[in-house]
Amino acid sequence: MKKLLALFLVGVMTTCMLTACGSKETNGAAGSDAAQEEAGAEDVLADGVLTVGTNAEFPPFEFVDDNGEPDGFDIALIKAIGEKLGVTVEVENMEFDSLVSSIGSKIDVAIAGMTVTDERKGSVDFSSPYYEAVQYVIVPAGSEIATAEDLVGKTIGVQLGTTGDFIASDDIADTTVNQYNKGVDAVNDLLNGRVDCVIIDKNPALVFASKFEGQVVALDGAQFEFGVEEYAIALPKGDTALAEKINAALEEIKADGTFDKLVETYI
Ligand code: GLN
Repeated sequence: MKKLLALFLVGVMTTCMLTACGSKETNGAAGSDAAQEEAGAEDVLADGVLTVGTNAEFPPFEFVDDNGEPDGFDIALIKAIGEKLGVTVEVENMEFDSLVSSIGSKIDVAIAGMTVTDERKGSVDFSSPYYEAVQYVIVPAGSEIATAEDLVGKTIGVQLGTTGDFIASDDIADTTVNQYNKGVDAVNDLLNGRVDCVIIDKNPALVFASKFEGQVVALDGAQFEFGVEEYAIALPKGDTALAEKINAALEEIKADGTFDKLVETYI
C-alpha cells in the first residue's frame, strides 16, 4: 500500500509540474486519502473491540452452548485471532442471510462457515480461506436418492441464502426449494416428510445425521458432482489493512498449532 501511495504521489507531482496545479490543494487531497486508508483498519480495531457476526445454527462451526452463548470452531478461531490482534471479540448472533449486508454497520466482520463466492465478493472481501468444505445431501434412511439425476424435480430443504440454497435453486432442474433460517428446521421437515432431502454443508450434515441416527443418512456431495468450497472470514470491502492483520493472525494460529487443536476440539 505504502509503495502504491508513493507512486501515486510521484504521479500527482509530475502531473502538477506539467499542469501547474496548486501544490497546497494537491497535498491536502493526497494527505486525506492516506489518512482515510490508514483509518480503515484503525476504525474497526481502535475501540479495542472486534464485533463479529455469526449464525449460531451451524454445528460444529457455530452453535449456542448450554449457557446460551455462541460457541464452536469459528467462534474459538475468531477469539484466537482477536487475542493475536489485542482486541476483545464480541459475537452477534444473527440470521445467516443478513451477515454480508451487516458488515460495516452492525458488525465489523463475519465468521459463519461462509463459503467464498464471486457474488459475495461483490459486497465484501474475504480473508485467506481456513477450511475446505462440500455440500452434502441428507436423505431419509432407505431413500433411493443417490446421484445428481435423482435430485431433479425434488422438494429440497436448504438454509436460506447458503450455497446449498444456490445449488438447489439454480443448478438442479425443476426443484421446489423450501428455505429455512435454520438448517435444523430443514432436517425436521425431512423427518416429517415435507421435503425429499436437505442440501447442507458436510460437517453440519454429519452432525445432524448422527443426531437423528437411523432416521436419516448424509451422502457425500461428490456423488452428486458438487464442487469443493472454501470457508473464509468476510471482511469490509477495501479494508486491506484489516485483511492483512487478520491473515497474519490466521497464519500465526496455523503455525503455532492452535488451529489444529481447534480442529481436534470441535470438528
Ligand atoms: N457454507 C455455506 C455458505 O456459505 C453455509 C454457511 C452457513 O449456513 N452458515 O453459504
